[in-house]
Amino acid sequence: MSKILLKNATIVPLDDEDTIYERASLAIQDDRILAIGTIPSDFDPDDIIDLSGKIITPGLYNAHTHAAMVFARGYAEDMPLDRWFNEGIWRLESALTRDMVHWGIRLAMIEMIRGGVIGFADHYFYMDEVAEAVVESGMRANLAWAVFGHEGGEVGITVPETVDFVKRWDGAANGRLRALFGPHSPYLCSDQFLARTAAVAVREGIGIHIHAAETEEQVKASLLEHDMTPIELLHDRGLFETHTIVAHAIHVSPVDIALMAQSKVHVAHCPSTHLRYAMGVTPVPDMLNAGVNVALGTDGAGSSVALNLWREIRLAVVMQRQARRDPEALGGLTPLIMAARNGAQALGFHRSGKLRPGYQADLIVIDATQPHYHPIHSVSASLVWNTEPADVQDVMVAGRWLMRDRKLLTLDEAAILSGFHEALAEMMARPLGQFKKYDVG
Ligand SMILES: [Zn+2]
Repeated sequence: MSKILLKNATIVPLDDEDTIYERASLAIQDDRILAIGTIPSDFDPDDIIDLSGKIITPGLYNAHTHAAMVFARGYAEDMPLDRWFNEGIWRLESALTRDMVHWGIRLAMIEMIRGGVIGFADHYFYMDEVAEAVVESGMRANLAWAVFGHEGGEVGITVPETVDFVKRWDGAANGRLRALFGPHSPYLCSDQFLARTAAVAVREGIGIHIHAAETEEQVKASLLEHDMTPIELLHDRGLFETHTIVAHAIHVSPVDIALMAQSKVHVAHCPSTHLRYAMGVTPVPDMLNAGVNVALGTDGAGSSVALNLWREIRLAVVMQRQARRDPEALGGLTPLIMAARNGAQALGFHRSGKLRPGYQADLIVIDATQPHYHPIHSVSASLVWNTEPADVQDVMVAGRWLMRDRKLLTLDEAAILSGFHEALAEMMARPLGQFKKYDVG
């Protein structure tokens, strides 16, 4: 049994009361939080860590990414989304290798852990590689094997194979892994395929992670073909009858928002990608007011360039304030709650995302002593507006340190960087084809 006492820290548990503890202690027993503030007198720690000048918060969740795609960072810049898919990413991905995913996911995890991200919802290929990497790293993850389905069958793996994948990994690594279905989107998957995926998901009790309503053109095309918005279509075809994460949901109507609230859909909002590709503004405050669980994601580094949740936190706020001419939008700790608490819910980790006795010891320690952190008039303002990934000093998942004093404890950074570049060189030398075509017109 391991017992750790963290003391003299500023603790921001992200609870319902917005409590902030000053010079306080947090007791950890095995994988759980035992107490915050008042520590039981018989608690006899094996390790006592003084965290003066440091802030403890729950770890962050990246609610939508294609993590291994770090290989595409900066590959297809300054173009509209259709050309980004057709001329950039889907051509590059025609050369994708299992080895690239093996090393790409590890590089992505280094970036995420170093930035205080403890879990991610991943939507990609060769997902057994990703699952094994998650087991090794100590992170949490919710994994979806991306499938492009049409009437003739599926590109990549089939529905029965995806069921096997989910059964293999959901609940593995002491519950650190969740797995679900990953149909790509209503604009790339046929109607029949979506309905079939939903039927199997509901029957087998499996969740779904899908992209939808990214552009106005997608909404127009869906209305023309089905007389329904993409969100109405997903609802109608049964995709909301299970635990569902919808990535983007930018162009949504009040009816779409009501449907998502009613169906307890989780939305993954990815500000960097939306802004960089001029895709529009997700009505996040309206969704939150309606009771939709909105979490934050980076999307893949091919579109967002970085897996930096602190950047997403700030962009989420400034995007709403500018678009709504409302300087009070998403104030206080709201964006941090979206990144931690809402992310944990979206990924299906129900005892994570806030610090509370009995919850998992999933936390990060932020070094608030750096020059850009002085002075601290408001802990919540400093956390939201001043924290950079490099300020994250320690990362703990389920009571186990993944990083201490900026030193990674589960991943070998030098070996991963060299393996990554070798796999990348090999992939870049392969001939490029056309993996898929984006055409919603
Ligand atoms: Zn995506």
